Amino acid sequence: MLNKKGYFGEFGGQFVPETLISALEKLERKYSELKKNKNFRRELDYYLKEYVGRPTPLYFAQSLSKKIGAKIYLKREDLCHTGAHKINNALGQILLARWMGKQRIIAETGAGQHGVAVATAAAMFDLPCEVYMGKEDIKRQSLNVFRMKLLGAKIIPVDSGSKTLKDACNEAIRDWVTNVRTTYYLIGSVVGPYPYPLIVRDFQSIIGREAKKQILRLEKRLPDYLIACVGGGSNSIGLFHPFFAQKKVKFIGVEAGGTGIKTGKHAATLIQGNLGILHGSKTYLLQDKDGQVKVAHSLAPGLDYPAVGPEHSYYKKIDRCRYFSVTDKEALKALKMLSQTEGIIPALESAHAFAYLEKMKFKKNEVVIVCLSGRGDKDMEIVKEEMTKSE
Ligand SMILES: *Cc1c(COP(=O)(O)O)cnc(C)c1O
Repeated sequence: MLNKKGYFGEFGGQFVPETLISALEKLERKYSELKKNKNFRRELDYYLKEYVGRPTPLYFAQSLSKKIGAKIYLKREDLCHTGAHKINNALGQILLARWMGKQRIIAETGAGQHGVAVATAAAMFDLPCEVYMGKEDIKRQSLNVFRMKLLGAKIIPVDSGSKTLKDACNEAIRDWVTNVRTTYYLIGSVVGPYPYPLIVRDFQSIIGREAKKQILRLEKRLPDYLIACVGGGSNSIGLFHPFFAQKKVKFIGVEAGGTGIKTGKHAATLIQGNLGILHGSKTYLLQDKDGQVKVAHSLAPGLDYPAVGPEHSYYKKIDRCRYFSVTDKEALKALKMLSQTEGIIPALESAHAFAYLEKMKFKKNEVVIVCLSGRGDKDMEIVKEEMTKSE
């Protein structure tokens, strides 16, 4: 499905300044070498087990199953070290950077979740780490800014454009162009120029590989549905990809509907976007009539991105995955519902997947796996404020 030039169908590619093409080629070459290297794989497995805490459970949610009327399993990425799936990728790429002999890590972050995961892994391996972050996001996410600093990372405020994630990405790319020999640019989702969408997918596919083994042991068969929220698209691709060839397993991606699709304040890129180029990749984007990238909106900080990984654009095109959206309000309601039926407070992002679960009609014995991408602790301030407002 991935052709030689780094496209998923017509999506993806490498739309970057000339100076970065050879860096991307080197990255691709080194990565495909290391993928087959026993020592690299042993090291990755070791840290995933001992540091991240894998494998994460595939938990049969008994009360939720009764309520929904199907057999619901939760893939517990919320139990990973740092509380979400992002560490799977941050750790994998930090190891890659070390094997490539890079001495400095840079990253971009929006809500700060990816920044925290990178700062965590960089601290463990004693690598200097600089994180680009929009000034607006720094204001909104002060706790994650504090976390990153505590972990020893340096925050570089970005004052251009809308002062959010897309501007931080631009600045990080600019830094990389200047310091490409010594610096590794650690991208946080299945986005950016090839080979990043492939590398991040591989590191997140541990989610789906484990889930497949676990469900075959528990149910003696493959699931009917996989459901996950889609921001950049990494927890969903990570769960989906190992099931790609099993056409009977249906994929459902849930995007952020914000205050409602009609209000224009949302992040439903695959449902509402059209084809364009952002951050080095050709994919679906939210843009206005003149091709200007729009500001995305979601109450869930990690879904607030105006583009989506190119492989999702491809899944949409070939109809391998179906995409839906749920609103901020519906996600909040689902967060409360899961907290009270299972005693698990999900991240606002993951709550989107559960909100869609409530809208679906299942046959009684259908088996469903939902990716619980992260835990809700980080969102308690937002949730508290919203719930007090509506009381
Ligand atoms: C960042 C984040 C997401 C969205 O990112 P994807 O790349 O789409 O997975 C989802 N859930 C949590 C908990 C996150 O932190």
